Amino acid sequence: MSLLRTENLSKIFISRRGLLKSENITALDNVNIELNERELIGIVGASGSGKSTLAKTLVFLYRPTSGNIYFNDKNITKYKSGKIKKYRKNIQMVFQDPYASLDPNHTVEWHIKRPLVLIKYKGNINERINELLNMVTLNPPEYYRNKFPHQLSGGQRQRVYLARTLAVEPKILIADEPVSMLDVSVRIDILNLLKMIRDKLNLSIIYITHDLNTVSMITDRIYVMHDGKIVEKGNTINIIKNPTDAYTKELIDAAPNPYKRI
Ligand code: ADP
Ligand code: MG
Repeated sequence: MSLLRTENLSKIFISRRGLLKSENITALDNVNIELNERELIGIVGASGSGKSTLAKTLVFLYRPTSGNIYFNDKNITKYKSGKIKKYRKNIQMVFQDPYASLDPNHTVEWHIKRPLVLIKYKGNINERINELLNMVTLNPPEYYRNKFPHQLSGGQRQRVYLARTLAVEPKILIADEPVSMLDVSVRIDILNLLKMIRDKLNLSIIYITHDLNTVSMITDRIYVMHDGKIVEKGNTINIIKNPTDAYTKELIDAAPNPYKRI
């Protein structure tokens, strides 16, 4: 049984230009993916292929136009808002821009404490904050707790945001281009951290990227997206070595060096 599964998931954006012209964008076109427990899978595709729409639909920031999402084999697309809230605790998202995701007026401690208060964390909140900072390797935690976002690097901010999402003990993490705005030198550290967290917390992770280099480093299985459709799926290395879809070949050719590990 898969932990999360989509069935012909579609999302159409209706955009209106002027009074007469309207243009629909099919951002997701009958997408079928599945994620098993403790799996780290990749969604790969060029800009505009529908990756972020898929992520946002999975966390209910968007309502699907049609199709179904199953969590633990329960069709959550049929849930009413109260139940959706419960589901959303299980599935957290990390975004691309570490500069936009933290509030500049508040400390690291505040950012991590807030979700703990919201979930009415029963244990010692101070210890839990330290534990979470340790988990994302911001050591020693005491050094980072009182820092403001502007005092941190992009990589450190992304770690803080990650600690914040882990505070609510999600089952699934969706990381949408989490390292594409970071310096190349810290990308590998953050990706290794994702892998380590997966092992430590038995999380399932969906890593979204346009970058075949990084996807081959941490995922076993990928889905390739193009124009809202899954055009290819399977073992990451097999697909990179023997792409069958013309669009996947294009992506590989466009990558500076697909086999180079950064
Ligand atoms: P990716 O993350 O792969 O770059 P997106 O999911 O952001 O792709 O976008 C897929 C398509 O949907 C694009 O054509 C984009 O312009 C369109 N799109 C995304 N979000 C919206 C929105 N909120 N309203 C209208 N169109 C959107
Ligand atoms: Mg995107």
